Amino acid sequence: MEEILKQLPQRAKDTHNENKKFFKKLKRKPPKNLDAIMQELHDEEFERTDCLTCANCCKTTGPLFTQRDIERIAKHFKMKPSQFIETYLQLDEENDYVLQSVPCTFLGDDNYCSIYDVRPKACKEFPHTDRRKFQQISNLTLKNIAICPAAFNIVEEMKKRLP
Ligand code: SF4
Ligand code: SF4
Repeated sequence: MEEILKQLPQRAKDTHNENKKFFKKLKRKPPKNLDAIMQELHDEEFERTDCLTCANCCKTTGPLFTQRDIERIAKHFKMKPSQFIETYLQLDEENDYVLQSVPCTFLGDDNYCSIYDVRPKACKEFPHTDRRKFQQISNLTLKNIAICPAAFNIVEEMKKRLP
């Protein structure tokens, strides 16, 4: 996995233009069964990928925290939401709450998330490859494939299955 993660940014760069073209075409004319295809590709990839050997999303980016996330996680720590924000979060340039630093404070050395059951919605959904109307998040996906080896593989498989 270490080698895969090392090569990933360059591989994402090398495929960027091709992927951009592919997503542009997909957006213009998405197949009717795209949601079902994505679910299948996502499930197949995550049967092969063990996130515990990777954790690159938690190490390099970290999620946005919604108000609901903040309330739920603060409650878990028996903290007030304002206290939780002050301790762990900061506002980014788009006025969203994000971690004060990465790797994520809640990530253990064994790559386990210490707040897994109450983790932010964005963590649960990352890399968003099983979301409906996948063609609508192509810009985000183009960024995510440089971070997430599973997302990279899913897009490569998409190009084969939806030429
Ligand atoms: S979601 Fe992607 S980046 Fe995150 S741990 Fe799993 S494979 Fe790695
Ligand atoms: S909260 Fe958990 S899943 Fe989310 S980035 Fe931190 S360690 Fe990863």
